Amino acid sequence: MEKRKFLKTMGLLTAGGIVGGAIAPSTASAMIKNNATNKKDVGLQIYSLGRELTEDVANGLKKIKKIGYNFIELAGYNGGKIGEYTVDTYRKMAEDAGLKITSSHVNPNTRDIKKDNLDEIADFWKRTVEDHVKLGCKALVQPMMPNIKNHDDVAHVCESFNQAGEIAEEAGIKWGYHNHNMEFGRVVKEEDKGKQQNPWMPVGDVIYDLLLNGTDPSLVFFEMDVYWTVMGQNDPLEYFEKYAGRFPGLHIKDRSVLGQSGMMNFERIFQKAYEIGLDEYFVELEGIRTGMTQFEGVEACFNYLNKAPFVK
Ligand code: MG
Repeated sequence: MEKRKFLKTMGLLTAGGIVGGAIAPSTASAMIKNNATNKKDVGLQIYSLGRELTEDVANGLKKIKKIGYNFIELAGYNGGKIGEYTVDTYRKMAEDAGLKITSSHVNPNTRDIKKDNLDEIADFWKRTVEDHVKLGCKALVQPMMPNIKNHDDVAHVCESFNQAGEIAEEAGIKWGYHNHNMEFGRVVKEEDKGKQQNPWMPVGDVIYDLLLNGTDPSLVFFEMDVYWTVMGQNDPLEYFEKYAGRFPGLHIKDRSVLGQSGMMNFERIFQKAYEIGLDEYFVELEGIRTGMTQFEGVEACFNYLNKAPFVK
């Protein structure tokens, strides 16, 4: 009787019994938790779900919302479509699921950015921005590093990023860049080559810093992936401190499910990120090492953040 009364209070019991048939105790408690009204505003990078989402997008988006995520960042936009769907259809599916598409990861079709293809890349961003206005996005993010071997390459990349930022801004969209670990590699000027005296005193300039310093803060933001920053042997907090205001968006990622590895100090990351103006963040899950499905993994990530006292 106690259980019946409890389920009824939680709205899970209809006149005919439990909604959707028999519910095992563990499922029931998960549903109760996910029906709570005090959920935090957490976003998900949909790449995390891989084929588990692309096989049935309409229902997959509903599952994302049911877990507790309120908004998503797209991956897979290509030539006016996201997978097999037009932008209008995708937006409709997201709206039907109760999800907002606030951001999207898009790469231009070349990783070589040179003086002579800057116009072509700018045209790519114009078309891309138009489609993302239709999607209702507020941000557009380039997730992969262009080929960078020297300071000249960096200069062309920064010029391209500033151009993309300007094109996006005209349409009311923010433009940003997402890192992996290779951005923490260095480029060395000709005159400095051979100056390295020992292996633990590297010469040259860190690419990520050159990108931060070489782009206009009013046009280009940085969506730091905190896991890849750590994998690049760097401390996200040092960057937050040094370049405050450049990181309104984050990828919250761990080696697998958030909080399991012990590699990531999320408490201090969130504390500092709020201090320097965090606007939104996306959970990202790549490697599952625990025998879960990707959906179970992203649910465990959501629950971790939803329960964490340091997450607002
Ligand atoms: Mg990421």
